[in-house]
Amino acid sequence: MSPTPSRQDFDTYMTPNYAPQKVIPVRGKGSRLWDQEGREYIDLAGGIAVNSLGHCHPALVGALKEQGEKLWHLSNIYTNEPALMLAKKLVDATFADKVYLCSSGGEANEAALKLARRYAVDHVGEHKDKIISFRQSFHGRTLFTVSVGGQPKYSEGFGPIPGGILHAEYNDLDSVRALMNEDTCAVMVEPMQGEGGIVPATQEFLEGLRALCDEHKALLIFDEVQTGVGRSGKLYAYQHYGVTPDILTSAKSLGGGFPIGAMLTTDKIGASLGFGTHGSTYGGNPLGSAVALAALNVIDTPEVLGGVEARHRLFRQHLEAINEKHGVFKEIRGMGLLIGAQMSDAFEGRAKDILPLAIDEGLMALIAGPNVLRLAPSLVIPEADIEEAMVRLERAIERLVRPS
Ligand SMILES: *Cc1c(COP(=O)(O)O)cnc(C)c1O
Repeated sequence: MSPTPSRQDFDTYMTPNYAPQKVIPVRGKGSRLWDQEGREYIDLAGGIAVNSLGHCHPALVGALKEQGEKLWHLSNIYTNEPALMLAKKLVDATFADKVYLCSSGGEANEAALKLARRYAVDHVGEHKDKIISFRQSFHGRTLFTVSVGGQPKYSEGFGPIPGGILHAEYNDLDSVRALMNEDTCAVMVEPMQGEGGIVPATQEFLEGLRALCDEHKALLIFDEVQTGVGRSGKLYAYQHYGVTPDILTSAKSLGGGFPIGAMLTTDKIGASLGFGTHGSTYGGNPLGSAVALAALNVIDTPEVLGGVEARHRLFRQHLEAINEKHGVFKEIRGMGLLIGAQMSDAFEGRAKDILPLAIDEGLMALIAGPNVLRLAPSLVIPEADIEEAMVRLERAIERLVRPS
């Protein structure tokens, strides 16, 4: 028998582009994880806003097993029943008429950006190629999406990067107005910046972007890779704002842990993604589609979506109570179960120091940039797990405030 893999093997065998925590989780159930030593953790990281129904939810395990014994993969030379049912479900539940399926958020955004360029060429001309996005935004790790993303550290050293990309200030319409003209083909925006620090868009900002895009005949693309599929308390965050995009991208929570992404759009715009223009070998494969359909069928219900708001309030109460005692946070913000706690001035830049302390206390959490503690738990996390998680978080924060 080969020896049990260890954290050391990561450094030996894997490229060093990640810096994983010391513990290796081996099993999960609901909002709990267990590591190799059998230690138990409450998971508020949720695989970075992916495990929308926690770990090994029976509906997802059931769908995976059932489909796994029928058909895994075909490629898009054939279509398949789960993909067709998933696409119909997404169309029925949103503004969209058409769906393109792929395997990740970055791929969904890549498709959205390529489609926006193609649509502009089809309807106006090659000069209409400028894409506007926002500082601090995050749209994925392909070369196009890191270039559109507003964090230069992710594209540095990978040039030459694609051109025709401009960055404005988030929640600042004037900065968009200053960049926008008849050559703008698309504006890509997260309704709430995730990686950029859990910063919700203002109502005025998204409405203003919609109006500017209409005025300049540019497409409005909402990147809902992190905010989508119930995370915000509605199926998609655009439904909170009542501002409808032309293209929407979804991934992360969509598969509940199975890698899948989707790009949603209208009939008219979708027509520009004609035969042969774009594709993916795995996109919409039966296994992923079956799991995503099962996840959507559980999440897109009043019980689950309604419960997100109640859980948000509970988290907020506890975070505020912790803050009253310890003064570590400047602001607690977010929507639904994507919650950010910005560190106070005295703890500036120290959000990441909480993570290993939390692990010691049996709690998994996330950060969003150096200054924001981020929570993205299961949408169905039990109230008792929230209570216990907040006890553990407080212990970690006590140790941050008063190191022994
Ligand atoms: C995570 C994320 C992506 C990238 O998704 P991958 O599945 O990692 O490619 C894109 N946009 C947003 C807003 C994200 O949070």
